[in-house]
Amino acid sequence: MVSEADCLFCRIVAKEIPADVVHETERTLAFRDIDPKAPTHVLVIPKDHYRDAAALAAADHGLADEVIKAAHAVAEQEGVAGSGYRLVFNTGPEAGQTVFHVHGHVLGGRGLTWPPG
Ligand code: ADP
Repeated sequence: MVSEADCLFCRIVAKEIPADVVHETERTLAFRDIDPKAPTHVLVIPKDHYRDAAALAAADHGLADEVIKAAHAVAEQEGVAGSGYRLVFNTGPEAGQTVFHVHGHVLGGRGLTWPPG
């Protein structure tokens, strides 16, 4: 397991910090965002630590696929796959990334505007 001691999401994977887990595979974990921005707001992560989507895709294409498939499974489970949902990977500070363990936001359950703020 690739993990970092100070990483919030590595600590969630290690069960040192509680989370409302909604989906799990051998290599991915999905849990509800603590500050939801939509009726469905779930974060999907690889259990191994990569700082952002680019680092994940560069290191392990298969795992990047698994994260996206897990995000779609979450959307189906939450009942938003049919109506539509947004999968967002904020990448870098200017995009608003604050937790540097790659995570896809699965947002749905309401009309989502474009462009985002
Ligand atoms: P931003 O904070 O600007 O949304 P990110 O894309 O890095 O930037 O998203 C981090 C997300 O992690 C935020 O939506 C935040 O609410 C969520 N979060 C922070 N701490 C926790 C936690 N302990 N459990 C679940 N979600 C968390």
